[in-house]
Amino acid sequence: MRLKTLVQNQTQTSTGNNKISTYLMLIVLIVTALSIVALFIAFETYLLGDTLAALILAGIGSIALALSFFMLYQSKKQAAQVKLDIPKVTTTIECTNKECSSKSTREFQRGDYVFKDLDVPCGKCGAKQMITAIYKEVKVKEKTYAV
Ligand SMILES: [Zn+2]
Repeated sequence: MRLKTLVQNQTQTSTGNNKISTYLMLIVLIVTALSIVALFIAFETYLLGDTLAALILAGIGSIALALSFFMLYQSKKQAAQVKLDIPKVTTTIECTNKECSSKSTREFQRGDYVFKDLDVPCGKCGAKQMITAIYKEVKVKEKTYAV
């Protein structure tokens, strides 16, 4: 039962990641809007004759714009990686007959929980089968950050 909640928590975490990327998109949008405003003010200042202030504003605007595009690019790349790394959840089924102790694995199905009795009898002896473990296959890999 504890494992079942664990699996549910993990699903909730992945939906949480989507929320974060939505916030990121909002930030990117605000930064882009602000940089466009900065560039516009820079143009106005240039028309008024203040070249130095115009240059500074244009510089800030350009950097902000470049940064927001970079963030957008990074988040898109991360989203693609998250989609590829969906962990495989495996269910282990064991025969309840101790003399047989036949063991098999299959993909996790909705409603699976540890110590659940299965309707499908053991293929070897015909005794009842039970779920003994549910686990997630974790691929250990080095995390690289472009920044
Ligand atoms: Zn058996």
